[in-house]
Amino acid sequence: MSPVRGLHHITAISSSAQGNVDFFGKVLGLRLVKKTVNFDDPGTYHLYFADGTGTPGTVLTFFPWAGAHKGRPGTGEAGLTQFAVAPGALDFWRDRLMAASAPLEEKTVADETRLISADPDGFAFALVEAPDDPRTGWIVDGIDPAAAIKGFRGVTLTLRDVEPTRALLTGLMGYTEVGHEGALTRLANAEVAAGVVDLVAAPQTPPASQGAGRIHHIAFRVADRATQATIRSTLVAEGFQVTPQIDRSYFTAIYFRSPGGVLFEVATDEPGFATDERVEELGQGLKLPVEHEHLRPMLEKRLPELVV
Ligand code: ZN
Repeated sequence: MSPVRGLHHITAISSSAQGNVDFFGKVLGLRLVKKTVNFDDPGTYHLYFADGTGTPGTVLTFFPWAGAHKGRPGTGEAGLTQFAVAPGALDFWRDRLMAASAPLEEKTVADETRLISADPDGFAFALVEAPDDPRTGWIVDGIDPAAAIKGFRGVTLTLRDVEPTRALLTGLMGYTEVGHEGALTRLANAEVAAGVVDLVAAPQTPPASQGAGRIHHIAFRVADRATQATIRSTLVAEGFQVTPQIDRSYFTAIYFRSPGGVLFEVATDEPGFATDERVEELGQGLKLPVEHEHLRPMLEKRLPELVV
């Protein structure tokens, strides 16, 4: 059994904190489970959207930099987030996304139908019917509970050269190659939710540029700090430059640049999002790590109030 258990979270850049709440909270029906700041840049929010409790594999996070320029899609990035929904749910989402004036495209990829859309920053996502996914999403008014987003299904990486990333993921990160179609190579860990990584080869495409609507990094999931330390040692032995284990309050993180240019993180399940708020109250308070608590009066004045 691989110690890497699919995705933990995906973190993107946006241009508006309220815009994130309006789209991912209100249109897609994800729960805002944590309102904190970027620990490395505490003047800005770090917003976490997820299922009801912040289960790893459902957590989409944003660094909203007010007025940030749109980034440009390209290679060396995770270009598409895949959400899992129940079979039959795409009809509901087609109507709902159309009503929200979101762009819509329907595509068949590797024998599955995808509804592809984007938020106002151009953050691209696909809704994919996942028949064997036992997870239940967060239930909100206005969204058919049978259609609720269950969490991530996976992610698509766009790469100039797929091979080194394929080797890393199928090697020490425990993925298996399960399909190949044109430029797309599908890797998966079939034992877990959020277990798909699609690699798309785009050898002629220029690199992506960071900005609103682009993914900053993707995080893979491990159970605990001890497992993370073991993976860290293996990565270092293979020549990767890996950060020390960093406390992110709700998980511990290590980061490294994958061979195709995408920033990878490995994050722990422990301690989770209910560590400083009760489950019923997740996302309500502005939560700060101890080292930034002295900034609270300034931050409470400066950060825009969010209408959830
Ligand atoms: Zn992260």
